[in-house]
Amino acid sequence: MAKEQKNEVMEKVVALCKRRGFIYPSFEIYGGFAGFYDYGPYGLALKNNITNVWWKQFVTDREDVYGIDSALVTKKEVLQASGHARGFADMLSECEKCKRRFRVDHLTDTKKCPECGGKLGEARQFYMMLETHIGAAEDEASLAYLRPETAQGIFTNFKNIVDSFHPKLPFGIAQIGKAFRNEIAPRDFLFRVRELEQMEVEYFVKPDAWKEAFDLWKGEMKRFVSKIGIDVAKVSELEIPEADRAHYSKRTIDFEFEFPFGKKELYGLAYRTNYDLTNHATASGVDMSYMDEETKEKIIPHVIEPSLGVGRSLLAVLLSAYTEDEMNGEVRTYLKFKPSVAPVKVAVFPLLKNKPELVTKAREVYGTLKKEFGAVMFDDNGNIGKRYRRQDEIGTPFCVTVDFDTIEKDQSVTVRDRDSGKQERVAIAELQSFLKAKLA
Ligand code: ATP
Repeated sequence: MAKEQKNEVMEKVVALCKRRGFIYPSFEIYGGFAGFYDYGPYGLALKNNITNVWWKQFVTDREDVYGIDSALVTKKEVLQASGHARGFADMLSECEKCKRRFRVDHLTDTKKCPECGGKLGEARQFYMMLETHIGAAEDEASLAYLRPETAQGIFTNFKNIVDSFHPKLPFGIAQIGKAFRNEIAPRDFLFRVRELEQMEVEYFVKPDAWKEAFDLWKGEMKRFVSKIGIDVAKVSELEIPEADRAHYSKRTIDFEFEFPFGKKELYGLAYRTNYDLTNHATASGVDMSYMDEETKEKIIPHVIEPSLGVGRSLLAVLLSAYTEDEMNGEVRTYLKFKPSVAPVKVAVFPLLKNKPELVTKAREVYGTLKKEFGAVMFDDNGNIGKRYRRQDEIGTPFCVTVDFDTIEKDQSVTVRDRDSGKQERVAIAELQSFLKAKLA
């Protein structure tokens, strides 16, 4: 696809997200705020559906993973021990002419501005953590950070989980939550933001068992990608060479996705060794070792970390679902969401808004379906064609219409399939089980 065409797809998806209530730029009435986005009702539903699929697969379906939710504001000692306070930095170059700033590792020519062609200044380190102060004084002693990853809250709770649950190795601790990075150049919609959300597991293993665990989580990540409806043909794995790995990692694989703006990191899988636990033990003076009951040996477990961005998941799902086709001689746009992530599962319409008998019956059908499926919508605005178009654009898999035949003849309704546009009559008595099978 040509570059313009690809950018056009991004523009269309961004515009659809705003128009239909998925995602809004934050603080837009004040001119926006680069790298921050708010989720509207459908975006929030999509996000919750994606994180719920993750939580089920990575936590509740397993016996060996414990979920937590730790503080966002992080004591500086934690991030000093983890190496982030010294090491969480990117090399930055500023254009002397247009003053734009770039990450040096994203530049093909480190001397010339990719935007205006001006001369780029000397590269310097740029620290990416957001700082805050806790308490009344604003001095070095009160300095704290907004966490740059959810992982450190897991490491600082390692001992708590061991003491409360006595898990056997291997076991994992998981959490979903916000993280903050003062990105030099936030861009590409949800791809690079400054307030992000991550889904992470730290999986603790015996030192010689890391390879097996690495493969296990690689498989789980692949399974998740297809479960939420990301186009697997556009996903590939990239082995990260040592020089490009994070300071804590001995092996990293990036899962990359072919975004319209290039093939870029979607998720990361890292072998963090026992770097974090060892450093926290040294810095805090607290013993972080684990007593292996079988061998009666004390070890500091090693860690495999699947780290998945929520926003990048949403963007990949939206781009994979975005489809244009022709229906009834008109171009139509729709989101081909998997039912499990679709914000609305079923929409119910009365054929005509001004016929009370149709509205009453449609409300009755709506009530029953809502009890069963939750995310069900009632819509009587505009004509049927317009309602279908609206539901297609938000990716609703099925629309149910109550018409005159429903009442006068057969107690059946029309069920329309989003992708094919095909309609079939289904008896109201069978509607629930019919939809349940289709939405499974
Ligand atoms: P990049 O190289 O793109 O800056 P990273 O290697 O720093 O990413 P990690 O530290 O491995 O990213 O973070 C784990 C995951 O968190 C990423 O794979 C991505 O899904 C998500 N993520 C990281 N930074 C951002 C960001 N600024 N905006 C949105 N998601 C992010």
